[in-house]
Amino acid sequence: MMRSMSARIPDSLHKKISQRLNFYDDLGVRLFYKDRGGSGSPTAAAPATESRTTKVSQQTSYEEAALPKLIRKPDSPKPAHTAPVVTPVQSAPTQAARKPDVLPVPAGPSLFESFDKVPDDTLLKIRTDLGECTRCKLHRTRNKIVFGDGNPKAELVFVGEGPGHDEDMQGLPFVGRAGKLLTQMIEAMGLQRKDVYICNVVKCRPPENRAPEKDEVAACSPFLLRQIDAIAPKVIVCLGSTAAQTVLETNRGISQFRGQWLEFRGRKLMATYHPAYLLRNPSAKSEVWKDLQKVMAVLGLEPKKGKSAEAGKSS
Ligand code: URA
Repeated sequence: MMRSMSARIPDSLHKKISQRLNFYDDLGVRLFYKDRGGSGSPTAAAPATESRTTKVSQQTSYEEAALPKLIRKPDSPKPAHTAPVVTPVQSAPTQAARKPDVLPVPAGPSLFESFDKVPDDTLLKIRTDLGECTRCKLHRTRNKIVFGDGNPKAELVFVGEGPGHDEDMQGLPFVGRAGKLLTQMIEAMGLQRKDVYICNVVKCRPPENRAPEKDEVAACSPFLLRQIDAIAPKVIVCLGSTAAQTVLETNRGISQFRGQWLEFRGRKLMATYHPAYLLRNPSAKSEVWKDLQKVMAVLGLEPKKGKSAEAGKSS
């Protein structure tokens, strides 16, 4: 069927569909689409790991300009339905101006929101599934995969963008300069690094610390999603726009929703500035500290007094 379908649809759309199916594989969602591959399908009989070798370097387009789901204050009226609010942004391209081969935006919940959890998933299983990953081009230049670190039962998960040089050398997230600042922020919240879980959208260092590209994010994000589900934290803090835009599947700038409570798969999510941004713009620390205080209130944490607390919150 895929072959006859590929005769009728443009190559680029065919690739996107293959990629979406690989994405389902990585999420552990298999059976519902496996029947689609007829005997002529190159991936029909192949195990999920083999089908990954056909991965393409083009990302499924995100739901452009979708508004992240805001958590409503108790006094505001409840929405009539639970589907995410999708409000077009003024500058968003019109349907006609869009590339014809872009997959239609599903009317219901977003891709991430609509996935069921992988049953009995654990960080160990996810790490095993990730393996010595070659799903995207970042594997060619990485030194170590940076899977994530911390408490597998953490109430608080921090999600960053991707490893830098120090992280790539050590195989641990946030251990460089930005990581030291993050550690100070965590301690200022009255916690220690071992109390929280820290991970990134992409698990391999982008060369020259460039932002991860769409295909790289698409290849890696199923693992992030599974990590979040397996840990089941009370609160997710997205550090910087790559993390926030990936998890929320939006192209909106982080400043439009930073500091507001959002919802992700039934969990509270706060997006705030990345510590690397704070190193360049120390005056933004007070904004981040305000965001973290909201997180602390939800987790019932008292701020820690002392030197590292001061370093974490002021400029
Ligand atoms: N920046 C990130 O986003 N992640 C890291 O692990 C380190 C720096």
